[in-house]
Amino acid sequence: MRFIPNDHIGDLDNILKTPTLCTGRSDKMKVLAVGGGAREHAIVAALARSGAEVYACLKNSNPGIARLSKGFLLIDEHDVQRVVEFGRSKGAELAIVGPEGPLEAGLSDGLSKAGIPTASPSQAAARIETSKSFMRELLRKHHVKGSIKFAIVDTIRELELALDQLGNEVVVKPTGLTGGKGVKVFGEHMMTRQDIIAYGEEVLSKRIGGSARIVLEEKLVGEEFTVQAFCDGKNVVPMPAVQDHKRAYEGDQGPNTGGMGSYSQRDGLLPFLKKSEYNAAVRIMGDVVNALRKEGCEYRGAMYGQFMLTKDGPKVIEFNARFGDPEAMNVLSLLSSDFVSICQSMAEGSISKKDARFLEKASVCKYVVPEGYGTKSLANEVLEVDEHAISKEGALLYYANVNEKEGKVFTTTSRSVGIVGISDEIEGAEQIVEKALAHVRGRIHVRHDIAKKEMLDAKVRRMALIRGEPT
Ligand code: AMP
Repeated sequence: MRFIPNDHIGDLDNILKTPTLCTGRSDKMKVLAVGGGAREHAIVAALARSGAEVYACLKNSNPGIARLSKGFLLIDEHDVQRVVEFGRSKGAELAIVGPEGPLEAGLSDGLSKAGIPTASPSQAAARIETSKSFMRELLRKHHVKGSIKFAIVDTIRELELALDQLGNEVVVKPTGLTGGKGVKVFGEHMMTRQDIIAYGEEVLSKRIGGSARIVLEEKLVGEEFTVQAFCDGKNVVPMPAVQDHKRAYEGDQGPNTGGMGSYSQRDGLLPFLKKSEYNAAVRIMGDVVNALRKEGCEYRGAMYGQFMLTKDGPKVIEFNARFGDPEAMNVLSLLSSDFVSICQSMAEGSISKKDARFLEKASVCKYVVPEGYGTKSLANEVLEVDEHAISKEGALLYYANVNEKEGKVFTTTSRSVGIVGISDEIEGAEQIVEKALAHVRGRIHVRHDIAKKEMLDAKVRRMALIRGEPT
């Protein structure tokens, strides 16, 4: 990764206005983008900035994606055949898939078979996300650093035996996809051994995540961080580190969500994260790409590594076979290289470090979500978004899981709008976001504490304590 000072690239205003980069291509490349959230709005904005002619397949009428696309189709994104047909009918020369569900359904395989190079992993490679048991076993088999103690259990008897070994300080995870909401942590969501067993019974009987299988993990203590990387099957080109906030309420309280907001620092590290620790996380991701290749499934596409920074360095919490959401909004808003070329290189297997450059700036993203998000969201409420005023505050706006009907924007049960601020320091970026948030109205909820100085200072102090350093 290279961070380039601002005077070496066009100015930030240009990125904010989503300009077309000089790509050296004579024709506009036709790119199919799949997904309708804010992550995909950020992907489509980066493609458009690189001069692509975008065609989108999405389940909801996201006004941001609709506006940037030459054509779009409202569709079940898991319907591989129809998505492939749409891509073919538009003459797509490249594709990128945003969400994990279609990857699990084999969309990348379908697109590749149809001759459309795809910058997203195959169904087999995507198992690092779609099967938590596959991921843990892969890391163990290939002796990847950052592995933790775990047990894969299919019955309550096995769960009890595993608890005898691991103790109660554990995390219970359904092995399949749950949209980030199926994980329960001892001491937070479960207080006794009985609670662990009760949740285990629920996962097994209801087949939460799609199968009656649980991954029981040792509970890690530390600060979480994300590293995303562009991968081409062999090479791993990392992006700036980001910290997301999964909990619904301020002070990191309440239920786990898809993510409420995130920030990145201008040097690509985080206030509590050292360069050596970031490098260790990147090496782990490289080892995972190598392990997958040895298993016969090359990983091509963006990879998301979520780590817990512990007193013994970074440990793996999970991998996602795609960009993170909200983290995509941080890194893609900072990307100053040609995103279409990056996607082509990922699909072709020819990416190199010089391909990905990022503005040397901090970024803050805060999600606007419907009231009740995390427990019972207020869907179908009107959201008033003053795009012009948000832009005047210098912020970027990414629409998420909303629907535009007759000029009005309506909430769904999922997240609504991501607002991103970019500045030299996190503090300045956070202030831009807060000013812009005043221009989104409705029955909404926002975590205003994300990226505030008090919160960052507390994380630095906490991490120093965990490392045993003076505070
Ligand atoms: P995941 O869906 O795996 O990202 O988990 C959701 C959240 O649960 C993470 O962001 C962490 O806060 C927490 N978590 C997951 N695994 C662990 C673990 N082994 N130890 C401690 N916390 C965890």
